Amino acid sequence: MLTGRRFRVEFTDAQAEFAQRIGDVCRSVWNTGLEQRRAYRRRGAWMNYAPQAKELAEAKAEHPWLKDVPGHCLQQTLMDLDKACRTHGTFRVHWRSGRRWAPSFRFPEGNKMVVEQLNRRHARIKLPKLGWVKYRSSRSLAGVVIRSATLCREGRHWYLSVLVDDGIAAGAVHAQPGAAVGIDRGVAVALATSSGELIDRPFTTAGERRRVVALQRKLARAAKGSVNRAKVRAALAQVRARERRRRLDFCAQTAHQLTVANAVVVLEDLKTRNMTRTAKGTLQDPGRGVAAKSGLNRAILAKGWHQLALALASAARYTRTTVISVPAAYTSQRCSVCGQVDPKSRESQAVFRCTHCAHVEHADVNAARNILAAGLAVTACRVPPAPAGVGGTRTQEPAGNREGLLPQPAHTAPAA
Ligand SMILES: [Zn+2]
Repeated sequence: MLTGRRFRVEFTDAQAEFAQRIGDVCRSVWNTGLEQRRAYRRRGAWMNYAPQAKELAEAKAEHPWLKDVPGHCLQQTLMDLDKACRTHGTFRVHWRSGRRWAPSFRFPEGNKMVVEQLNRRHARIKLPKLGWVKYRSSRSLAGVVIRSATLCREGRHWYLSVLVDDGIAAGAVHAQPGAAVGIDRGVAVALATSSGELIDRPFTTAGERRRVVALQRKLARAAKGSVNRAKVRAALAQVRARERRRRLDFCAQTAHQLTVANAVVVLEDLKTRNMTRTAKGTLQDPGRGVAAKSGLNRAILAKGWHQLALALASAARYTRTTVISVPAAYTSQRCSVCGQVDPKSRESQAVFRCTHCAHVEHADVNAARNILAAGLAVTACRVPPAPAGVGGTRTQEPAGNREGLLPQPAHTAPAA
């Protein structure tokens, strides 16, 4: 199966300088290519990869600085640009700014790369024009097939991301075919499962939060464009990167545990991008509750909701787990026992007390149970038709509205 492995690179000074130069050239190729594509689009014409790659080859004769860097990286940049323009549209693809864009470039032809273990902690990989690149061997690359390698800089450090084929094939079915779980992602608690588990982990320590506040104050006082400001920004980025890595780790580990234990994982379909839109409004029509909304946005993003969905999709490939998204509407207001929908049942942030049957549960767990029920209703429709002579398999798709997906209690008529 194709998967990624990431390592911290330990460049020599000359290599770090050269890598930065490759990044700069790739950036200028990207921007020139994008400019050209936009100019063509304005005239109603199209530009794509093949003619651009040809022009790049011709430009090398005129500009020797293009020849110094690995040609494959430049071609990859044009391919990435082509893909970005096809996916998002030429005018929605961004320029790569020298200040904002962190250098990143890819070497294809992984089959030609040689990896050598130096000692227990370090290994090296041979990359075109960069030569032997030493990296921290935090995971072995023995027995895998390398497809490509990407170098990118994050803050002060460079990282090597290797796309590998690990040769692991998933079994035909999940090891525990009957097991299913519903997941409610929240702000107060990162995850609640339908089995009653609350999974969360702090990503920052109290000391780190104090340090962020102190650094932000320092940043506000630092003069624009000063050396001091750059230093404070770098320190702030370092603390934030640590938090980000912890979050990624939490998501990957949780996703692994959930997919190993369950054949079906149901998530509510959260449009994180829409949910974290700013409330700022416009100059003519300023929004209300801007500070509160930006605080909520930060809380949502801090829990890594989207990151977990990505990690689940990746981990599910190995265990044959089915990951389902169901609409999120009413999952927090519906009683998981009797099915009654009532906003008043949500007594507080944490407590759900049904106004109809007096069922009491942790509000997020109750929501997770509803999510599971909705997800199972969806999978029931996907069951292949029963063999001849066996009846009773429901193959018809139910109504798209999730009110219709949940088992309806006889004595209530839930509000739509
Ligand atoms: Zn109830």
